[in-house]
Amino acid sequence: MRRPRFRFAPSPNGELHLGHAFSALFTQARARQSDGDFILRIEDIDFIRCRAAYADAILEDLRWLGIEWLEPVRRQSDHLGLYRDALARLDRMGLLYPCYASRQQVRDALVGRKNWPVDPDGAPLYPGLHKGLSREERAELERTGMPAAWRLDMDRALARLDQPLTFREQGSGPQGQGGLVPAHPERWGDLVLGRRDIGVSYHIAVVIDDAEQGIEEITRGQDLFHATGVHRLLQALLELPEPTYRHHRLIGDEMGRKLSKSAHDRSLRSLREEGLTAAEVRVTLGFQPS
Ligand code: GLU
Repeated sequence: MRRPRFRFAPSPNGELHLGHAFSALFTQARARQSDGDFILRIEDIDFIRCRAAYADAILEDLRWLGIEWLEPVRRQSDHLGLYRDALARLDRMGLLYPCYASRQQVRDALVGRKNWPVDPDGAPLYPGLHKGLSREERAELERTGMPAAWRLDMDRALARLDQPLTFREQGSGPQGQGGLVPAHPERWGDLVLGRRDIGVSYHIAVVIDDAEQGIEEITRGQDLFHATGVHRLLQALLELPEPTYRHHRLIGDEMGRKLSKSAHDRSLRSLREEGLTAAEVRVTLGFQPS
């Protein structure tokens, strides 16, 4: 039988901090408990914010922390074609539409709308600016040369489901949710699946990779708990296997202060430079010293 795999999937858009260390150690602990493997995935599709130097630093910090992973490391930038294929499939299903409006135009469309609904991250839902464009209108906007963001038609997507979506939470959500949890992708409205700048998006890449890499239990921070609704929807639409989820608590400033007297910079690198050992970091975060 294949050993279960657990993944840690940082984005190389900055230095790893204690929150990342907690997440990586949590994943390592789950892999050890289950006699499984630790998979490292570098989520670097956002070429505007990600840097190769940060990716190198992540590997170095994780090694220092005492984490070993199964080679090779997966880099999402090597698999863009897969994510584009998934988007093309959703498009063929009639579930995507292009939006040519700039962020400012979307913001302007929301001015004066009272009590407009917001998504779980607090951002206003897309007001449907370019939804339902006629063929002519679309062609005209295309001619302006403005690249489109590809949005999911949430109502149509939900209409394809034959049963309410749920997910199995083994840890807990921010309000203590656990067990079989209802998934609420509709709370995100017509969200962007193909970003205007990079062509793809985190949501599409993460569900494809978790399936490709055979991840059966997803360990990650509670900040992504509500995004799980979107991931379950995409898994259902793309006929991907359903993993279970184990969201963990987030490490706040307090823990950072405890470890680092100056506390301004909680990066692992700066803690290391202050003389902290990996064992001290591990124990303070609640894990075995090695
Ligand atoms: N790349 C994401 C991050 O660094 C994590 C994605 C995930 O664990 O699903 O926040």
